[in-house]
Amino acid sequence: MPVYIVLLGPPGAGKGTQAEVISQNLELPHISSGDIFRENLKRQTDLGKKASEYMDRGELVPDDLTIAMIQERLSRPDCLEGALLDGFPRTIPQAEALAVMLAGFNGKVESVPYINVPEDVLIERLTGRWTCRDQGHVFHEKYNPPKIAGLCDFDGSELYQREDDKAETVIRRIRVYLEQTSPLIAYHRQASLLQEIDGTKTIERVSADVLAVLPKRK
Ligand code: ADP
Ligand code: ADP
Repeated sequence: MPVYIVLLGPPGAGKGTQAEVISQNLELPHISSGDIFRENLKRQTDLGKKASEYMDRGELVPDDLTIAMIQERLSRPDCLEGALLDGFPRTIPQAEALAVMLAGFNGKVESVPYINVPEDVLIERLTGRWTCRDQGHVFHEKYNPPKIAGLCDFDGSELYQREDDKAETVIRRIRVYLEQTSPLIAYHRQASLLQEIDGTKTIERVSADVLAVLPKRK
């Protein structure tokens, strides 16, 4: 049976950073909805252009577009054994659609690590974040600097600051999270899937804490 894990947490909590480690450890593909939208924008697809109107404002892309995009991605052969979802679902209707979708693949969400970080820390993390052009690897100018300034440790591509990581848009995104995404905490808790993790610790410590609550695969 395929294994699906959902990483939950506010923007800047460390979902993408942790997904890299967990994905390698559990041998599951890392599916980031934000990365897929940004790749689409780079290729100038209709989906990418449409999504960027919302992303630039710090708002959520409409559910129908987002759900269709994830359904297509999870149908690909690399997801036959499951996936690690980062940034999806972000609304209750998305979570409901995911459950239906996964039932169609004979699977379900097995665990939801919720990386909890207070708002003031999030702002500092996002405004200091540098992202790699090629594959979306993330660094932080103070907490996780690249070995060579301006270049990605993993693929050598250029690092840039995302347009939506400027302070004004970050504050908007946190508000959107509180209004539209945070209800998923209670939703998953009720289903006994939520595992709360203190995301203020070091990257290594958070990785260990997340791995400790996840099902072992091999
Ligand atoms: P998310 O995917 O949840 O938005 P990221 O993984 O992109 O979060 O992390 C946001 C920023 O915070 C990045 O610059 C990253 O390097 C940094 N970061 C991630 N985890 C930690 C941590 N535990 N301590 C300090 N900085 C962190
Ligand atoms: P972060 O890593 O800071 O949490 P993401 O890269 O996950 O940010 O998302 C960036 C933007 O992409 C969001 O602000 C939103 O506009 C859009 N987005 C990503 N995932 C979703 C989703 N599941 N539903 C709606 N919009 C999304």
